[in-house]
Amino acid sequence: MSSQNAEQQVDDLYKIRHSLAHVLAQAVQRLYPDTQISIGPPIDTGAYYDFLFSKPVSEEALPKIESEMKKILKEAQTFRVDTLSPDEAKKFWSARKQPFKVELIEDLEKEGATEVTHYVNVNKKGEETFTDLCRGGHVSNLKDISRDAFKLMSLAGAYWRGDEKRQQLTRIYMAAFTSKAELDAHLLMLEEARKRDHRKLGKELDLFLFSEDVGPGLPLWTPKGTIITDEIERLAKETEAAYGYLRVRTPHIAKGRLYEKTGHLAHYKQSMFPPMKLPNEEGEYYLKPMNCPHHHQIFASGLRSYRDLPMRLAEYGHNYRYEDSGALFGLMRVRSLTMNDAHIYCSEEQFEQEFISVLQLYLKYFKLFDIQKYVMRLSLHDPRELGKKYVNEPELWKKTEDMVRSAMKKAKIDFVEVPNEAAFYGPKIDVEVWSAIGREFTLATNQVDFDVPGKLGLTYVDKDGTQKTPICIHRAPLSTHERLVGFLIEQFAGLFPLWLAPVQIALLPVAEPHEAYAQKLAERLKGEGLRVQLMSHDNSLGKRIREGEGQKIPYLLVIGDKEVEQNAVAVRNVATKKQVTVPVDEFVFATVSDVKERKLKASIG
Ligand SMILES: [Zn+2]
Ligand SMILES: [Zn+2]
Repeated sequence: MSSQNAEQQVDDLYKIRHSLAHVLAQAVQRLYPDTQISIGPPIDTGAYYDFLFSKPVSEEALPKIESEMKKILKEAQTFRVDTLSPDEAKKFWSARKQPFKVELIEDLEKEGATEVTHYVNVNKKGEETFTDLCRGGHVSNLKDISRDAFKLMSLAGAYWRGDEKRQQLTRIYMAAFTSKAELDAHLLMLEEARKRDHRKLGKELDLFLFSEDVGPGLPLWTPKGTIITDEIERLAKETEAAYGYLRVRTPHIAKGRLYEKTGHLAHYKQSMFPPMKLPNEEGEYYLKPMNCPHHHQIFASGLRSYRDLPMRLAEYGHNYRYEDSGALFGLMRVRSLTMNDAHIYCSEEQFEQEFISVLQLYLKYFKLFDIQKYVMRLSLHDPRELGKKYVNEPELWKKTEDMVRSAMKKAKIDFVEVPNEAAFYGPKIDVEVWSAIGREFTLATNQVDFDVPGKLGLTYVDKDGTQKTPICIHRAPLSTHERLVGFLIEQFAGLFPLWLAPVQIALLPVAEPHEAYAQKLAERLKGEGLRVQLMSHDNSLGKRIREGEGQKIPYLLVIGDKEVEQNAVAVRNVATKKQVTVPVDEFVFATVSDVKERKLKASIG
């Protein structure tokens, strides 16, 4: 598909979704004539509309509304546009007892609008069936919309204008696509996402938990979950060592004066836990929301010369962020996080090479985790927010943004630019990835800081003997343990590649005579560094196989007479559901090497 066609299709889909929002409101008004209507925008999977019903409705009403919508689509209504003065429009909506619309028009007037547009649905007989205040962007005839490519999904409460002091409205969500096949694919994805939900699988596989006594948003990793985070850390440490990083460790708290100097208290305070006051000390302490200020202290601890650069300081650092309790969500949004963090201090000349090398690290990890679809978003500053949301250095902003752009282009990495989403100290790259079932996650960020090193007085002596301020690259390609593991649970549906699986192999002796052999084999596999669980014969074989599959253990080894006799194992590969019998030596050799190479797929069976 050419990009122009793709754009055209997006545009068409927008029109369909937008038109269907009108159809939804029309259907609701036919069935519940005294309903007040408010707004109904398209969203990325369909549209919604917010209503004030005179009596409460439940999800049971949705099928009825949906079939009314189908009737409306058959009526082949078209859209007519009427242009009115704000006064005329207000009169129109007041007469129909629609105060939300009146309020919307008043707002348009405040913005300086001298006319507003109404879109009026007209049926074949020329009768007006529905009117909405709207800017346009509809299909030309409602009969062109597929009647089986949309579905009403759910009801939710939503405050008028998002303001909890205003009326609570009922929002009806609708999924809408151009074809039934696309809708079906979307519904399947949602169903699959429910099955793969990291909160559900995290509990079933015993990977992490939350405790009311510890507090919301503060995950506790179980022994099994910790195997996964340890393996990820091992990966990071090996890779970063090869890329020339130096490891450091820093405390979880710091004095407020540090965050005053870095600007965090000025720009980031609302995301930090409130300060702690110590009885016999001046000043206050804060839980660290980021590791950079601590790392900067290490950089500043000695006299640095151009020969020390680039200096890459890495730490799996624990950070604490004060998220609103309503915003917390499983592992994806938490208050304590463990970050694959590092700060690269470099000269301006070294910046490009360092930045590209970080991007290459991302691509390497994407392969390892089978991430096939991703987008890098370059978040830029907004000149109007200088001195407020962003440090007031217009020249430096422009220069750094250009440097990042040029590095991305040189690395031949596709990216999109997003205004007004930078960090307060510099532009950043947000990495968005799609899981195996097509759901989008924001995984990691990569930031450039041209400001804080200067504020903290970080310097190095350049070749010509002058003192210069290094640029700092903040990078976290493996994100936080919380977010990455949350993503990986969905990505692999809990069935992790061998190297990440908490239990890699389960041994299932068929009966008593096979126990001793199984135990000896378990010892051998453990000796090879593999993670093994012996599932003794007290339960039926079928039950144990189901349990091993349920626990998403990649290999189940069944051991009966034949296996004992031949010094072999019957290997059940849980991912492929195939079973093959191989000599023990062959199984051990293949598995050890799969783990060592961090292969995505187990090679036996
Ligand atoms: Zn419209
Ligand atoms: Zn940082």
